[in-house]
Amino acid sequence: MNARDRRNATHDPSARSWVASANGHRDFPLQNLPFASFRRRGRGEAFRGGVAIGEEILDLAALARSIPFDGDAAPALRAAGQPTLNGLMALGPAHWSALRAALFEALREGSARQATLIDCLVPQDGAEFALPAAIGDYTDFYASIHHATAVGRLFRPTNPLTPNYRWLPIGYHGRASSVQVSGTAFRRPLGQRLPPGRETPEFGPSARLDFELEVGIFVGTGNAPGEAIPIGTAEQHVFGLCLLNDWSARDVQAFEYQPLGPFLAKNFATTISPWIVTLEALAPFRTPWARPPTDPPPLAYLDDPAMRAGGGFDLALEVWLETAAMRARALPAARLARTNFRHSYWTVAQMLAHHTVGGCDLRPGDLLGSGTQSGPGIGEAGSLLELTAGGREPLGLPSGETRRFLEDGDRVILHGRCERAGAASIGFGTCAAEVLPARTPDPEA
Ligand code: CA
Repeated sequence: MNARDRRNATHDPSARSWVASANGHRDFPLQNLPFASFRRRGRGEAFRGGVAIGEEILDLAALARSIPFDGDAAPALRAAGQPTLNGLMALGPAHWSALRAALFEALREGSARQATLIDCLVPQDGAEFALPAAIGDYTDFYASIHHATAVGRLFRPTNPLTPNYRWLPIGYHGRASSVQVSGTAFRRPLGQRLPPGRETPEFGPSARLDFELEVGIFVGTGNAPGEAIPIGTAEQHVFGLCLLNDWSARDVQAFEYQPLGPFLAKNFATTISPWIVTLEALAPFRTPWARPPTDPPPLAYLDDPAMRAGGGFDLALEVWLETAAMRARALPAARLARTNFRHSYWTVAQMLAHHTVGGCDLRPGDLLGSGTQSGPGIGEAGSLLELTAGGREPLGLPSGETRRFLEDGDRVILHGRCERAGAASIGFGTCAAEVLPARTPDPEA
């Protein structure tokens, strides 16, 4: 299967919507149709599923009451109107695709349903968002070889990559309770760190707080315990992708991580974008997957012809920073890095296949992080750890400030965007959150 085969009528770049703001919209034209859980701000309403169209949200609960749709789209629409999207995610790709096709037809120019749907639109600037799913489990991978090499070099200059790196997608089980939707501020974490040259740790707020630019992967249909998801059908278990910032306390991490891996350094906050872009919407932006001929080929359970043909995603990713001083002076946010998910060493399909090959069951709404995505070039690093060479080379900002790591009041903003000739460009919206001062530590601690 090549990349073009996955396209259908919903990818037609010439299709226009009767929602005027959708036509040429930077993120949310008719060809995108990403899902979120939202409500109108300040009214105490229940959250429900919605689809972005231009500057509006199509309220799927209201739509389900007005137009029930037909066939597979009918149960999909009912599930999509619920407070979380887990029910929709559990239905599987035939239902997701039927719902997308029905929404596309209802929203396109000339639709007979325009008069009804107008009453189901809510302006995005009057909405607030919840997590799109009840996330049962969160797993964080380490799929960018450029990131793994750059970080490994800081700790092991002569041997940056661990011997397992090229054989399996490294991951660990993260913390689902502290995954938060974009816009949720969080406190700087506290923890133990070992100052250089000292033998006893000190306790306090992290002094090396970092962001991690990642892609989030929402699991749709799961698998039974003891059953693996084969790589050839792995993508049928993926509902869609979002932006993910996996905040990290580098000083806490350095002291705690051996022998069992990350703990407090990673479990205080993870921020995701409200919008989930479906894999079907990403069909025009597929890229072949390959590795250098000097690298070992993947084992059979991690290899697949369709994945080699189009298992990557041409998804441009950006990190922007807005400091408290920049806000006070009304200065725009500054871009810190720009890279692309196509550089990922391991694919989405490989991450799912490896996660389940030992018998682990995934469930609808589970979240996987891709790991920090960095590219091969300067300015393509998805963390401050890389951009400042471990804090040794501070970044200069247009405000005249510098940053080695994040300071209180800093707001980090992620963007994702897909552009390709012959396709309508689509985007992921915004994933942003602000760092608040640490809780005052208990003097007995
Ligand atoms: Ca991470």
